[in-house]
Amino acid sequence: MSFANIIGQDRAVALLQAMITRNEVLGSYIFTGPKGVGKKILALEYAKALNCEKQGLDSCEECVSCRKVNSMNHPDVSIIAKDEDSSFIKIDKIRDIIYQASLKPYEARKKIFIITEAEDMNEESQNALLKILEEPRDNQVFILTTSRISGLLSTVLSRCKLVKLNLLGQDRIKEILIDRHGFTEDEADLFSRMSLGSPGRAIAFKEKDELKERDRMLNDFFLRKRAIFREEVCDDKKYPDIEESLKMLLSWYRDLLVSKFTEDAGIFLNADRSQEILSYASRFSADKLERDISSIMKTINYINRNVNPKMALFNMALELER
Ligand SMILES: [Zn+2]
Repeated sequence: MSFANIIGQDRAVALLQAMITRNEVLGSYIFTGPKGVGKKILALEYAKALNCEKQGLDSCEECVSCRKVNSMNHPDVSIIAKDEDSSFIKIDKIRDIIYQASLKPYEARKKIFIITEAEDMNEESQNALLKILEEPRDNQVFILTTSRISGLLSTVLSRCKLVKLNLLGQDRIKEILIDRHGFTEDEADLFSRMSLGSPGRAIAFKEKDELKERDRMLNDFFLRKRAIFREEVCDDKKYPDIEESLKMLLSWYRDLLVSKFTEDAGIFLNADRSQEILSYASRFSADKLERDISSIMKTINYINRNVNPKMALFNMALELER
């Protein structure tokens, strides 16, 4: 991989390359965009280009530095993320970054710290990190990635250059799934529809068997709306990523509404369940489906803004039941 192989993020890549060309590489960045669009991959590509021994606009993929980044073995390029069993990035990890940042690079031009899902730092961690963001050294680059920028303190935001990544069109996603991930044409067709513009979501759908997850969620949220009242859906273990689950629900309602205007199953996102879509849709008016869609979107927004998810889901369930 290199910048040349990043699909669908031309604007972000151009911005980063322009900074390399003008010798204006900054000390801190926030790569922001929806989940699964490739923020971490782009951060690694930037790290690779910045430290490539050929010092070009893109990584050469051949020098020792590029190969070390590719094998995640570069002593000056670190990725910091929350542990799997934790819901936030522990302050110890930030303290370790601060210590590491006090040292010179071991062998590269730049010491690069990539903090993924940076919104998972609590206020204490963000404030600790702020100290080094405020006094950047020439040989350090911090890249924070986030799909929920509202989770970052305004003081952190103000120290970083924002680089926005966007959702991708279905064709670009199909291309990625087939060329890079070995999907068959049929799989790529189905999963790219369900991806809602995010290749990462399409890959997760296949790898984590998320069709099953979607069916379970539809069962709880759509067929047994009362499950929401019993607070089952607020169980972190049953629905660890409620926002993703709501997006699946949204794609379902979108299909129900679309089916009011066409019976062409070719445009359904959940194309594998087109018969049910047509049959369920007949029970609801287009007006009702539109209201339900805005209710789900509102709930996703609330959860994004850290509103109590139980309350938000309860209100959504009331509105869907009406
Ligand atoms: Zn290189």
